[in-house]
Formats: sequence, C-alpha cells, structure tokens
Amino acid sequence: MAQVIEFPPIHPGDPVLVSATTYIAYRRCPAQGLGRFRGRYPPESKASFRGGLTHGLIARHLQSGPIDDPEHAAREVIGSTNLNNKITAAGLNRPSLLGPVISEASDLYRRFTKLPVDQFERAEVALLCEVADGVTLIGQVDAVFTGPLLRDWKTGPLGDPLEQLLFYALVWCLQEKTLPRVEAISLQTGESLTQTPSLFELSVVAARVADLVNFVRRSIEPERRAGPWCRYCPLWQECPEGQAALAINN
Ligand code: SF4
Repeated sequence: MAQVIEFPPIHPGDPVLVSATTYIAYRRCPAQGLGRFRGRYPPESKASFRGGLTHGLIARHLQSGPIDDPEHAAREVIGSTNLNNKITAAGLNRPSLLGPVISEASDLYRRFTKLPVDQFERAEVALLCEVADGVTLIGQVDAVFTGPLLRDWKTGPLGDPLEQLLFYALVWCLQEKTLPRVEAISLQTGESLTQTPSLFELSVVAARVADLVNFVRRSIEPERRAGPWCRYCPLWQECPEGQAALAINN
C-alpha cells in the first residue's frame, strides 16, 4: 500500500531549496539555518574534507569493488571530484597537511571494509521532491539497501543523527511512496542507530520543514539558539548569544 504524507500548506513566494544540512542547522538554531538562505555558510574544514574523501572511497568500493591501495585511490578521488577545489579553503594546500588527511580517510575506509554490505543496491543516491510550488527538498544518502534501508556512514562520532535520518526518510517517502528504514553508523567509534520511522514522525518533520520555508518566505526574524554548534557558525561575530556560548565553552 502506498504510504502518503500530506505536506502542510506553505506561504507563496520565491523558490526555496531545502537540504538536509540546512534543515539540521535550522533545528539547532533557526538563525543559523536561515542564514544559509542568505549565503552565510560555514567555511570548509579539515573534518568536512576528510569526510567527503572517505565517502568518495566508500562509493568507489560499492560501485567497483574493494580498493587495494586506498591512499592512491584517495588521490584519484581528490583529482576527479570537487574536493580538488576545496583543498586551499580547508587549509590543506601543502603535502605535509594533505598527506595526514589522506591517511585518516584511508584508515576510515579500512574500517568500513569490515562492515557487511549485503543487499546493497545503490550508492550516493540523490533524493529530490517538489512539495509545493517552488519548494524542493533535496538530500543524498550514502547507500540504499534492500528493504529499503537508507544508510549513512559517519566519519566522526555518531552524535545525534536522527534529525538527518528522518529528513532523508521524509524525502524518500514523498518521492517513492514507501516508508524506509534508516541507519547511521560511525566508522570512528562503531556506534550505530537504526530506526523505522512512522508516518506520524515524518509528518512532524514535514511540519518543521514547512515552518522553515514560511520563515524564509516571510523574512521573519528567527530565534537564536546558542550551543556548541556556535563554534562553526558563520554568524557568531555578530551574535551576542553565540559569543556568550563560545566564552563558556572555551
Ligand atoms: S552564533 Fe550560535 S546562536 Fe548565534 S546564530 Fe550562530 S548558531 Fe545561532
């Protein structure tokens, strides 16, 4: 039976593209999430570069089979993807800086090879659904397995991946009209989280996404919600709440 979610009504306005990353930023701090619609993105970091590189190695493994020399393959991944354009911004523009990151990504890849990948179907699957006139939700899951099961590999600690997983599940359900299971696994720590979301849970996520879009379209001044994430927020220099949080955390 088709699983259908009614998307809440949305205020008319300019086109809006909502990604999982923007949604998560909005859930942590509405001001940070809405800042992304004004072009305020956090700078590239070594951690995000290492994450992108590890995911490139995993995708290559899933599509073409095990990699004998991950360090060599990592250099090929960098040269053939937009990671090449991010080297300088991530502060890795010297061999002595880039080399350790390649080693770390290769080590994470070797950890990945110890995990079962039975019933794998597709890697780096793009999700996209227009939910209202000019409102499109997008995402990319690391891999889809039979079930369907949407799986995301984390290159750091597991943290709290549920918001991201539920966003993926929502877009999948809107697109495919089936309820997926979702899973996140930390390659660093081995922690994992698996969940089968209900239609009700996804309806709650849909309502939150609709709120986000209505905020953007009506230019409402958003709430600032300070926390450890202020450290990576591009708005912290103009945000008293963020500066107070950083003073406590430093
Ligand atoms: S610095 Fe912190 S509180 Fe301020 S906008 Fe950014 S995330 Fe929100």
